[in-house]
Amino acid sequence: MSFTLPELPYAYDALAPHMSRETLEYHHDKHHKAYVDNGNKLLVGSGLEDKSLEEIVKGSFGKNAGLFNNAGQHYNHMHFWKWMKPNGGGDKIPGKLKAKIDSDLGGVAKMKEDFAAAGATQFGSGWCWLAVKDGKLIVSKTPNGENPLVHGAIPVLGCDVWEHSYYIDYRNRRPDYLKAFLDHLVNWDYVEELYSAAAK
Ligand code: ZN
Repeated sequence: MSFTLPELPYAYDALAPHMSRETLEYHHDKHHKAYVDNGNKLLVGSGLEDKSLEEIVKGSFGKNAGLFNNAGQHYNHMHFWKWMKPNGGGDKIPGKLKAKIDSDLGGVAKMKEDFAAAGATQFGSGWCWLAVKDGKLIVSKTPNGENPLVHGAIPVLGCDVWEHSYYIDYRNRRPDYLKAFLDHLVNWDYVEELYSAAAK
């Protein structure tokens, strides 16, 4: 399947002051659009044209770096927009997901601490994740466009720690951006939706 840039699920200024209109305009309209456009060019002749996005990400990993980088980033950003919402974040976590966080990750506070630490310590560009692997919730980090799909896991929450995601609003203060993401932006209902699907 070819890639299409989705609309943001909220207005460009809906996440301010935690993520500004300017950041979302650049991040969505320029960066994500470039992954979609370049991905579509690189998909032609790759032999993966008829596959789903997830299959393209997994099928190109380690084999077709150009296609993988763009397809991976398209997948990551498509979810990233939905992983945020106005007045999100905090501890309003649906019950089933919260129980799993308690049993696998030592509670919500510890999970947030580990998630933020994974994002802060990812050297250079990349992502930090909450993912389901072998039936358990795990926290992880990946470089560049990689994601848990290529490591045998299913991502349920990810935070983009490329500078393009925070430099306009936070300059070099990546930990402050991660704290704002967790405290004010995470759409826990969407995380729960992906968790329920992954746990089946
Ligand atoms: Zn990004």
